[in-house]
Amino acid sequence: MSVEVKHLVKQYGEQLAVNDISFTLNKGEITGFLGPNGAGKSTTMKVITGYLQPDGGTVLVNGMDVQRNAVEVKKLIGYLPESNALYYDMYVSEYLYFVAGIKKIKQKWQSINNAILLTGLIIEKNKKIGQLSKGYKQRVGLAAALINQPDVLILDEPTSGLDPNQIIEIRNVIKQQGADKTVLFSSHTLQEVNAVCDRAIIINEGKIVANDTLQNLQQQKNDIATVIVSFREQHLNTTQLQFEFVEKVECMAPGHFKLYTREEQLVRKHLLALALQENLNIISLQSEQQTLEEVFRRLTLGS
Ligand code: ADP
Repeated sequence: MSVEVKHLVKQYGEQLAVNDISFTLNKGEITGFLGPNGAGKSTTMKVITGYLQPDGGTVLVNGMDVQRNAVEVKKLIGYLPESNALYYDMYVSEYLYFVAGIKKIKQKWQSINNAILLTGLIIEKNKKIGQLSKGYKQRVGLAAALINQPDVLILDEPTSGLDPNQIIEIRNVIKQQGADKTVLFSSHTLQEVNAVCDRAIIINEGKIVANDTLQNLQQQKNDIATVIVSFREQHLNTTQLQFEFVEKVECMAPGHFKLYTREEQLVRKHLLALALQENLNIISLQSEQQTLEEVFRRLTLGS
């Protein structure tokens, strides 16, 4: 089942939260929705799930317009909101029974037991939600999202606030679910998306800045290198090192510079030529590949 987001716009008063974004989610793929806080991830997810009306554009789930077929579409979607409101005084099974009622599920206990099994809640099912660890509370949220056996899962920062072990457990549940569902998984860290997703959509200030497989994003990472050079002489300035193919020069300390380039070998040659020509002494010259985190920073900070 596919989800198609077309030219989506959402504004809160003066605040443009989502600015004309389009993308498609495919079955059997976990797509990471990545961006800094305030980028527009939650807003987009709320529109996809039919909880917010867009100001422009459309969302189609399995070809159906979310706005026109809100009830039908909600049956196809499991949604875990960012701040997942649970009733702490309720027992796990009792809460899931309540959710199954709201979702008008016919064979309630069969669906509840299935969701409990999928999220590893068997041992905890007779406890009150308030007694559970944060990780298990999040599993209850996931079980509630899975109870209608949805084909589409929209998970808003499902691991935020969990400890490293809990993060791994929740990720594993999501990965299992992703095998036969269409999953959108939001996060503000690239490391997380890298661990769970096949593809990443990167959003910044309401605009999509990248939509690619993790493999291709890794490739991009290898394209840009930093060349770090130190001269004995301290009088050089950044303009003197602004060679062809150098995207940016930073002065780290007098005589010490960082050059960003896609043509690392060529830039090294330029540096050596400059040193010869100007009779300068290079005391160190080294190159570093960018990390994937830096690619994300470059795309979202515009640097
Ligand atoms: P993210 O999920 O990426 O952190 P959000 O979608 O929550 O981003 O927010 C996008 C922008 O919209 C932010 O600038 C945020 O402050 C603003 N925003 C979100 N919800 C509301 C709201 N209910 N009222 C006004 N502004 C909002």
